[in-house]
Amino acid sequence: MKLEITQVSLSTSDLYYICQMVDQVTSDPFGWLRHIEDFAGDMSCSRLLNSFPKWTPLHEFIEFVVLSVAHEDAILTADDFLVSEGDPIEKARRGKIPWIDTLLASNGFQHSYRKYVSSGGEESFQDYLDEMGLAGPLDELLYGVSRQVFHVLFQNRKVLRNFGEMMVHYVASTGLSLYPDSYTERGALKRARPPVWARNAVFHRDKGCCVVCGTDLTKLINQRTQLHFDHIIPLVSGGMNDITNLQLLCSSCNLSKGGRNRNTSFRVDEWYSIEDEE
Ligand SMILES: [Zn+2]
Repeated sequence: MKLEITQVSLSTSDLYYICQMVDQVTSDPFGWLRHIEDFAGDMSCSRLLNSFPKWTPLHEFIEFVVLSVAHEDAILTADDFLVSEGDPIEKARRGKIPWIDTLLASNGFQHSYRKYVSSGGEESFQDYLDEMGLAGPLDELLYGVSRQVFHVLFQNRKVLRNFGEMMVHYVASTGLSLYPDSYTERGALKRARPPVWARNAVFHRDKGCCVVCGTDLTKLINQRTQLHFDHIIPLVSGGMNDITNLQLLCSSCNLSKGGRNRNTSFRVDEWYSIEDEE
């Protein structure tokens, strides 16, 4: 089978800017609570209860964050963006490029606010965004951006756990009251077996090793090791049946983790050892 290739076309600064935003919001969601309510509140909670969707809640959250930031440009007026060609000092002073336009350009789209207005569109930036959402490339852009950002964030179990923590209330409380059939009598989401694609992806991300003690679980040498696909946030604590909530553990770390423990590790393997002589 051939692997699907996603072209990373975001600039490094945009890519890490979005990663950083998701990291900040998920590690300290307090200032963002109202937005998060929009994302995961009553109307949208069902998305958190699906078992192992390939398009995960984190993919959707990345889209949501990007769109929220793009909308912040709407407080600027057409005057800020549409500086006539020519005077470079004036351009530097007033001419801003809407952030969404830089994303569009780096992903190969030909759309821009300037073109929209010069082809007779309304001058309001909000109208431009609305138009792009209805008939334009916004969905396609967000889809591509989210895949690129997810590729980076999926390797960071700290962000994954923080994202899961942020969703706990909606899974454990809102979801339970709206969709009780999806839950066990103890109030945990019913356990779903991770599909093969999810197990493979987590196995490769964690390099076939227990993320806590580092034991090799590949069975290449030691046939007795047993690998466990552990829920970072246990289902009984409001964790999701989602690939972003899985990690590799050996049996002894899994057994000692206990039912409500949310332990993970933030270690990453370096490509090569700097200290080793060989
Ligand atoms: Zn272990």
